[in-house]
Amino acid sequence: MKDSTCIFCKIANGEIPSSTIYEDEDFRVFLDLGPAARGHALIVPKEHYANIYELEDTLCSRVFLLAKKLALHMTEVLHCDGFNIMQNNGAVAGQTVFHFHLHLIPRYEGDKAGIRWNPGSAKPEELAKLVEMLRVD
Ligand code: 5GP
Ligand code: ZN
Repeated sequence: MKDSTCIFCKIANGEIPSSTIYEDEDFRVFLDLGPAARGHALIVPKEHYANIYELEDTLCSRVFLLAKKLALHMTEVLHCDGFNIMQNNGAVAGQTVFHFHLHLIPRYEGDKAGIRWNPGSAKPEELAKLVEMLRVD
């Protein structure tokens, strides 16, 4: 399914031009227009899925294989010093385009990407409670 109001549907399906570095039947990978660091790219499925909760299982497993392949390739070509692979779901989590995408962010010593969070502190009783709630057997 495509969403006629969605910019990533249009880019992924070639209706809007993009700086594409990879394309297959199911995905387009293109450079981010507001890069966190040099070479920042987005893996975007051609079908519309708003987020990870909606993403179809086969594509979900393929997306990380593709991320690994491209991370290796980009690291070799760009000579970056590290790599972030990240994905936001929901506005509160930082998602601004509501069509699933995986960020591929090459990292360089001294870059200003600033991808981090303020660490809290985990209390043992809270950890135990969360394990009880979240454990999947
Ligand atoms: P999010 O915040 O949803 O995880 O990431 C959206 C990303 O898409 C941002 O990094 C933003 O710079 C990028 N972006 C938004 N609109 C466009 C666009 O029209 N073209 C490209 N190439 N990137 C875009
Ligand atoms: Zn879309």
